[in-house]
Order: sequence, then structure tokens, then C-alpha cells
Amino acid sequence: MTEEAKRTSCEGGSLLRKSGSEAARGASVSAFKKIPVPYVIERVDDGREITFQWEEQGHVGRYPARYLRLACQCAACVEEGSGRQLLDPDAIPEDIRALSVRLVGQYAVYFGWSDGHSTGIYPYEFLLGICPCPECTARREREGTSE
Ligand SMILES: [Zn+2]
Ligand SMILES: [Zn+2]
Repeated sequence: MTEEAKRTSCEGGSLLRKSGSEAARGASVSAFKKIPVPYVIERVDDGREITFQWEEQGHVGRYPARYLRLACQCAACVEEGSGRQLLDPDAIPEDIRALSVRLVGQYAVYFGWSDGHSTGIYPYEFLLGICPCPECTARREREGTSE
């Protein structure tokens, strides 16, 4: 395991995750659905935006902090079982920021938000599924899976 892979937190700058996808790269023709691992996670504009680079070349999702905060799936934000949203969007400040981004194992991140919330875990697969880039937005609209 490289030093890079062992690093588990990022309070300030960008997070390079080049080692994460190496195993999957050799098996790109396999039938397995590989778990997406971003190459770079970066807090932009003091955490008002977080970018995830999903592929080595290109595919960058620029996630506004508020968009991610509203998508929090933790038990305080979404009712377990029913999936009903408990979080009141009006209660989330317009200028919310991600103060920190931490890796959770090899599959997820969590954010420390400026409103004090930090219990939500965001699996990469979930984040890729809500990727706000034009291509993903268009694909979700085509497939009718947008909520
Ligand atoms: Zn939450
Ligand atoms: Zn995308």
C-alpha cells in the first residue's frame, strides 16, 4: 500500500487518489461493475464547491456544497425505511461550505459541513449517480432516473 493510499483525510487542498483504481484498470473488460473511485477530490472556493474527477482523463463533476448537503442520506436527514426526507432544505444556508472532506475506506467520503452537520456518508457510487456534469444530467434525463 502506498503512502498516498493510506492517507485518509484532507482538510485543505486536493486529494490525489491515483492508486485507488489500479486494480480495476487491468480488468476493464470484465463484466463486474467496478466501484467508481475518483482520481481527484478537491475543495474549490473554500469548500463552496467540491469537484470529483471520475476518470483519468476528464469527467469532472463540480458539486455545489449545498447540492451535496441536501443529498445527505444519514438517519437525521432521511427517515430510515421510508426514505422520506426529514431535512428541510430551507434550513440549509445558501452559503454552506464543506470545511473538510474525509475518506471512508475505499468507497466513500464524508464532509464536515459549516452548519455543523457531519454524519452523512457519501459512497462514490452514490456521488457518481448524482453527478451534476452535463453528460450525466443528460443521461439521467434520458433514463428517467432523476428524482
Ligand atoms: Zn445528514
Ligand atoms: Zn458526470
